Amino acid sequence: MLKIRVTFTIQITLILYIYKSNIFKLLNTTSPTHSIAEIAKQIAQCETCPLHKTRTLTVPGEGDPTSDIMFIGEGPGLNEDKEGSPFIGRAGKLLDQLLDQIGLSRNKVFITNMVKCRPPNNRDPTPSEISSCSGHLDSQIQAIDPVVIVTLGRFSFSKFFPGLPISKVRGIPRAWKDKFIFPMYHPAAALYNPSLRPRLADDFTKLLELVNEYRNIPKIRSKSPNQVEPKQLGLFDR
Ligand code: URA
Repeated sequence: MLKIRVTFTIQITLILYIYKSNIFKLLNTTSPTHSIAEIAKQIAQCETCPLHKTRTLTVPGEGDPTSDIMFIGEGPGLNEDKEGSPFIGRAGKLLDQLLDQIGLSRNKVFITNMVKCRPPNNRDPTPSEISSCSGHLDSQIQAIDPVVIVTLGRFSFSKFFPGLPISKVRGIPRAWKDKFIFPMYHPAAALYNPSLRPRLADDFTKLLELVNEYRNIPKIRSKSPNQVEPKQLGLFDR
């Protein structure tokens, strides 16, 4: 009987000790933040999905890794695959012009894609390719920790908010964790359909207003976007 009591007391003491010592928190640690350069090295070696077999170069993304603004496109095309840089074809030239219109340039923001290797013949990335590559993108978001993530087109927007049509949601910032997701049309869509171009230009102006209002990161971090969203939506509602 005494033996059972002693064993029981030891067990309770151990449970209390583990509980108090925050061991659960320690076990629940998230992965450490890697630098953008380390992530690019991992991407260069990645063979997780079949896209690695047909790529020339990986296209990890580039720009200012401390920027408040991160752009996420779809995937590299022919030129990007040859050069290893994102958005350097016709859609990229339009992106450069739109950035210039609001006084920014590509080296002041960070630009990347959902998938880091070119889908053959510029086809859409498959859900399985997107999912294989998502760890790289998640690490980049964690490393850059931007205030605003601009999603270019439906693929990147649906990473954060699946199932919403881009035509209905574009230009309206949405709270996601401690950040804003700012959906826009993909620049290639505006090349294909020039009537979308003024809307894309309008959305860049709104992006500048949003960033100017919330560029002070400590301010945004102490106030979650959920708290500021109603005002923000009012500002951007049409
Ligand atoms: N170039 C890119 O890097 N991404 C796109 O989505 C389109 C062109």
